[in-house]
Amino acid sequence: MAGIVVVFDFDKTIIDCDSDNWVVDELGFTDLFNQLLPTLPWNTLMDRMMMELHSHGKTIENIVEVLQKIPIHPRVIPAIKAAHASGCDLRVVSDANTFFIETILKHLGIRDCFSEINTNPGFVDEEGKLRILPYHDFNKCPHGCSLCPSNMCKGLIIERIQNSISPEENKRFIYLGDGAGDYCPSLRLKEKYFMMPRKNFPVWDLICKDPLLVKAEIHEWSDGDDLERILLQLINKISIEESAQFISADCKLQTLSVSAHEPFPQVLRVQQ
Ligand SMILES: [Mg+2]
Ligand SMILES: [Zn+2]
Repeated sequence: MAGIVVVFDFDKTIIDCDSDNWVVDELGFTDLFNQLLPTLPWNTLMDRMMMELHSHGKTIENIVEVLQKIPIHPRVIPAIKAAHASGCDLRVVSDANTFFIETILKHLGIRDCFSEINTNPGFVDEEGKLRILPYHDFNKCPHGCSLCPSNMCKGLIIERIQNSISPEENKRFIYLGDGAGDYCPSLRLKEKYFMMPRKNFPVWDLICKDPLLVKAEIHEWSDGDDLERILLQLINKISIEESAQFISADCKLQTLSVSAHEPFPQVLRVQQ
């Protein structure tokens, strides 16, 4: 059942806060962050904040320690593991950075569930300082999307992923997100795909203004319990549809060996 691509935003979708704010707040740099916020784009500000942390004696180890304490809803990890175990191709599309995301996913033991992490590059330089760079080099080649911040258009990333899969594979997409940056990709999802906006968060507000602009089927969620239940239900629903198509296309239906004891098709057990 490799017919489903599940794309997750990271902040406030997989984890239950914003990792950038979390690191800055936990290390005691909220005031400086707020002071600089009106003067710099977010991505540039995060690079600057990492420089400030370094010059005030905060080490990479200090950053890793706070990342490992990041809040996450207890049902999100089981949901991700179940989706992965059912054969879905899971990917991350996030405006955080590779260092934060890799550190957190490895710590949570779910890094290997994801085939791809699309985010801003984050790396430790020779001075032991974390650098955070833009995903798109906006000076050399601006992405040209008016909905998105200059460092990242998630819509372009989704388009790239959609185009990288041949139409014959007939994959279905499920996209989960909360932020304004998740609105652009939601507009690019095709019919028969699924959009899971977090209820009462910016992407949900934007979608609600004119839901007809989104071709994908919309399923809102509020917390990790919802996320797990709805995501696994959608995966189940798609799997049943795929099996039904397979059966109708195959006149040798009788030869399918379905155990009488096991209701068919039982792809996923959805926990209530
Ligand atoms: Mg988010
Ligand atoms: Zn965009």
